[in-house]
Amino acid sequence: MYTRPLARLIEQLQRLPGVGPKTAQRLALHILKRPEEDVQALAQSMIDAKKQVGFCKVCFHLSAEPVCDICRNTNRDSSTICVVSESRDVIALEKTREYIGKYHVVGGVISPMDGIGPEQLNIQPLVRRVSQQKISEVIIAISPSVEGETTTLYIGHLLKPFTRVTRIAFGLPMGGDLEYADEVTLARALEGRRELD
Ligand code: ZN
Repeated sequence: MYTRPLARLIEQLQRLPGVGPKTAQRLALHILKRPEEDVQALAQSMIDAKKQVGFCKVCFHLSAEPVCDICRNTNRDSSTICVVSESRDVIALEKTREYIGKYHVVGGVISPMDGIGPEQLNIQPLVRRVSQQKISEVIIAISPSVEGETTTLYIGHLLKPFTRVTRIAFGLPMGGDLEYADEVTLARALEGRRELD
């Protein structure tokens, strides 16, 4: 149906999340219409981002520097840490402009079925952070799916000896992801946080 290089491009695009065969074909045909410099810039930006972006060594948010902008920002409240599952949740919370503390990205949720235990996540570095620094509150903002709930309780149990632990009030549907919540809902969820039992 497609000439070989075009088929390969469509095949690669289809591997992206949310891209089905139709969208992949549309994107591929669009790319072929663009000037070569534009295509070059697109390809180069993908390679550069992949090569240059790593994880902040303090909070594990995506960062091109060893320590991310949020961790380095001295205007932010360093006595509060918001614990999230993925970097995309940091981005969602930042968009609310309500939160001025720091973050910690654990990198997923505990899921024994998928072979993900606490050791596979950035939980020990979090415990170290909380036990060694003056932290007045840890806010856990992990989606309340079954795995998210397990992860929240596990982290809460480990941190309670050191500080106050709260969780955000999800007005979101069970299992709803932070990134799908609009900014107002998310800001309200943060405001309505409560003690973790
Ligand atoms: Zn950081």
